[in-house]
Amino acid sequence: MIGEPAILTNEMVHVANQVIPEKRLRYLMGCGYPEDIIEAVGLGADLFDCVLPTRNGRTGMAFTSQGKVIIKASRYSTDRAPLDKNCGCYTCRNFSRAYLRHLFNTGEALAGRLVSYHNINFYMELMARIRNHIKKGTFRAFSRRILRKFDFRNS
Ligand SMILES: [Zn+2]
Repeated sequence: MIGEPAILTNEMVHVANQVIPEKRLRYLMGCGYPEDIIEAVGLGADLFDCVLPTRNGRTGMAFTSQGKVIIKASRYSTDRAPLDKNCGCYTCRNFSRAYLRHLFNTGEALAGRLVSYHNINFYMELMARIRNHIKKGTFRAFSRRILRKFDFRNS
């Protein structure tokens, strides 16, 4: 999974999931961008792990409902809004974008932890939404809608 083009990964996931019985847990290692996870779920993958939420969080990149946020950008220097206005995590409830940017620019280790915390919450919420749509039988429609919106891989 790590490094090859998404189309090749999806092809491999599709082939593997034809061999692995549906009742078995289908684990996909290193699948990290939200759109990759959604596509892999659509192909039958169940379980994922990846460093992206914390590795990117430590360097100041946040996954948000509005797309990617690079918190070190100067445009956030006076931005009092939370990292993600649609997120209720500890970071978004307590810290502004300007404060997070300040923490990064002064080398505070807390900065990476707070953005990582948000990113992990973002992924947990995404997985909860995926599970709910699978249960309701609306995953395909959800997948199409969200894949039109998300472009973390290329943005
Ligand atoms: Zn948050």
